[in-house]
Formats: sequence, structure tokens, C-alpha cells
Amino acid sequence: MSQEVIERIKNRSKGEPEYHQAIDEVYLNVETIIEQNPQYKELNIFERISEPERTIMFRVPWMDDQGNINVNRGYRVQMNSAIGPYKGGLRFHPTVTLSVLKFLAFEQVFKNALTGLPMGGGKGGSDFDPKGKSDAEVMRFTQSFMQELAKHIGHRTDVPAGDIGVGGREIGYLFGMYKKIKNEFVGVLTGKGQGWGGSRIRPEATGYGLIYFAMNMLEANNDSLKGKKCIVSGSGNVAQFAMEKILQNGGVPLTASDSSGYIYDKDGIDTDKLAFIMDLKNNKRGRIKEYADQYPSAEFHASDRNADSNPIWDIAADCAFPCATQNELNANDAKNLVKNGVKLLAEGANMPTTPDAIEIAIENGIMYAPGKASNAGGVATSGLEMSQNYAGVYWTSKEVDDKLKEIMKNIHDLCIETAEKHGFKGNYMAGANIAGFIKVADAMVAEGIL
Ligand code: NDP
Repeated sequence: MSQEVIERIKNRSKGEPEYHQAIDEVYLNVETIIEQNPQYKELNIFERISEPERTIMFRVPWMDDQGNINVNRGYRVQMNSAIGPYKGGLRFHPTVTLSVLKFLAFEQVFKNALTGLPMGGGKGGSDFDPKGKSDAEVMRFTQSFMQELAKHIGHRTDVPAGDIGVGGREIGYLFGMYKKIKNEFVGVLTGKGQGWGGSRIRPEATGYGLIYFAMNMLEANNDSLKGKKCIVSGSGNVAQFAMEKILQNGGVPLTASDSSGYIYDKDGIDTDKLAFIMDLKNNKRGRIKEYADQYPSAEFHASDRNADSNPIWDIAADCAFPCATQNELNANDAKNLVKNGVKLLAEGANMPTTPDAIEIAIENGIMYAPGKASNAGGVATSGLEMSQNYAGVYWTSKEVDDKLKEIMKNIHDLCIETAEKHGFKGNYMAGANIAGFIKVADAMVAEGIL
């Protein structure tokens, strides 16, 4: 019976491997919960929770600086609104497909439930690549994108934010266009600038939250981050602020990467070097290789898409924080983490670890935190931005940071308690999947068949 549900879901979404992977991962942990709860089964909750409430796909035409007319595809997947308005980021990257956005939207539903805030799940974006585009081109693209998206979102309906390729610049252009179309100044996007409705600590929140979560994991094992060598992948928003928080707590980041390759700095990336990365990535929009040109203690390794492992995960360290993209850490990489004595693997990115790699990590005693728990600080702070926008108040950095710390501690404890209660002691993935699922499933039961 249950396997039939999974087959139906997959048949309805042929050619969507990332989405199938996310479905399988959650189902693995909630299958017994569904069996034990006749209402979930009778009301076919799993099939309903897996099907987006609405998927919008649209043409995004835009003119480049040479006067050529280009076409990209825009998407918004409105996955589930049982516990609040749809909420989730927009991704602009050439690898964006419907499958990628459905997996992200599905994960987002459970992540948002874990934060304890009233937010449903959604995700959107485009296969547009902002890399190498001028500011004027990015502005024309985002304005065209918003002309269509504006018909489907609203501050009580669907509140997008940033993700890969969508940072402060893109949120600014998107917000400006929405405001012009609707003639209203409301908190329809989060991640806004602080002078025009944004929350303090939102840019830092995902990376900071990830490290708060990891510190909770270490503390639960009578350990701390002090002196720990850390492998970090990515060099964007999440990676940058994860490194900042690692440094603030006495850890040593050793690596950073982008899609062209990674740098390994044997002396560690200190505060000054991190400032170089932030300037390189956020202002100059350069490539990570330039770090190795600047600092002789670092080496650059170009990425090899055909390799069966990623050497960034084969560096001797204590903690690993994948903060770039999905499926960037496979079974061979997990074996290398085990070989090198890595103790903790916490995901900043969404679904960066493949299912077989997760299994290897857990079986070998690596403490593993799934992104839907450990990177939830970003969306949680987006939720705090929404609350501030509704109420028309602004909290200080300390107030927001204190709330973020508390939320990450609550999520950590919820994962541990839920896992233990359902026979998965110490398994953060099971705890996160089950706790998130129950919260949304109960709301769906209460709200009827929709
Ligand atoms: P950014 O665009 O700021 O940075 C992304 C980084 O990952 C860049 O260094 C980028 O390199 C690299 N990257 C992206 N795609 C690939 C790829 N296919 N192969 C190799 N490297 C890649 O994004 P964020 O830091 O915001 O997001 C990183 C991850 O964190 C994503 O999985 C996102 O979904 C997740 N996340 C983000 C949140 C947020 O608040 N921003 C919240 C929760 C999760 P390059 O520039 O060369 O493409």
C-alpha cells in the first residue's frame, strides 16, 4: 500500500530525480509514523503533502546590453500552506529545473515547521545565471521576472526570499518592481535592506544559525568548537557567515569553494582573509581562485566534474560544513570524512549530502545534521522579518541574534527528543523529518481535504 503511494508520486513526476530523492528521504523516516496513525493513512496525507498546491511556470524575456532579446524560464512552487503563507527563497542559477525547485519546496515545508513560526513552504527561481551579467542586465531580468511573479505572491500569501544567485542586489530590484506594480509598501520579500524594511542579522542568519546548531550538537557531547578545524564548501552567503561564526567561536576554517574549484589554506582563513573573500564575492563578483593568488599559504584546485569524489572533503579536519549546493558530498567523500576522523557533518546547503553518504556518515558515528534543521536559521529570521514588517517595529541586532540562537537550540532539542521518542536515538535526520512532518500533517488533518 505505502510503496504504491511513492510509485504514484514518482509516476506523476517523471524525470525529476532531485524531487524523488527528497521524497524518499522523508518517507524513510515517517513511514512508521503513518502506519501508526490511521488518520494520516486514511486521509492520504503523504501523497497530498508531496504534491505542490500550485506550480507556476512562466516566460521571462529580457534585453541584454547588446540589445539581444533573451528568454529564461521562471518558476514558483507553492508547496504547502497548512501552517502559514508559502515561504521560501528564489534561486537564479543555470542548474535550476522544476525538479530542483520541487525538492527545495518540499524540504522547505518541514524546515519551516521546525522553526516553530507560522510559515508554509514554497520555492522559486529561474535558470537565469547572474554571473558575468552587468547590474543593468540583472535589473532588467529581475523586473521582467517580477512582472509575472507579482500576480501570485503577497505578504499574506507567499513571501519569497533569496537563495543561490539571489542576494541583496536582486532582492532590491525585485522588491522595487513589486512595489511599483502593486502600489503598496509591504513585506512581500524578506532579505530586504535595513533602510527599507529588512531585519538586522538576516544576511548572517543561515550561516550563524548553522554554527549555533553545530555548537549545540558538540555541547550535547561535552565538546566545543574551540580549536576545531573546519572544511567549508561554497563562498556565498551561507559559507561566508558560517566562517565568520566559526572564527568568533575559536574554530579554524580551512577551505572555501565555488563552481570553478576550491581553495585550501593550511594556515586557516582568518578574519582578514575572510574579509578578502567577502569583498571578492560580494563586491567584485570574482572567482575563488583569486584567493590563492593573494595568499601564498593557500592552494587552488580546479573542480573536476567527472571525478568520483570531491577532494575538498579529503582534508584532515574535525568538522565539515557543505554550504554550496545539492549532492556535493557523495559516498566516496563520506568515506574520506570517516578516514580523516571528521566528527561532525552539518549541512548549510540544502540536500548537499547524497543518501548513501548520509548512511556512511551515520553508521560510522559522525554526528550528522540535515539542512532542514541546521540551515533553518535563515528562514527563521525571515519569519522574524515578517513579524517586524507586520507590526511596524524594528529589533536590534542583539534582539534578533538572541531569538535566532534560541530558535536553533529549540530545533536541536526538538530533533533529539523526537528521534528518541520514535526509536531513532541520536539521529537528527529522523528527528527533523518526523517532527516537521507531524506538525504539518496535523494541520492538514484539521483543515480538511484540500
Ligand atoms: P550563494 O549564491 O550566495 O552562494 C552559493 C555558493 O555555492 C557559491 O559559492 C557558488 O559558486 C556555489 N555553487 C552554487 N551552485 C554550485 C554548483 N552547482 N556547483 C558548485 N558550486 C556551486 O548562495 P547561498 O549561500 O545563499 O546558498 C548556498 C546553499 O545554502 C544553497 O543550497 C541554498 O539553498 C542553501 N540555503 C541558503 C539560505 C539563505 O538564506 N541564503 C537558507 C537556507 C539554505 P558559483 O558562484 O561559482 O556558482
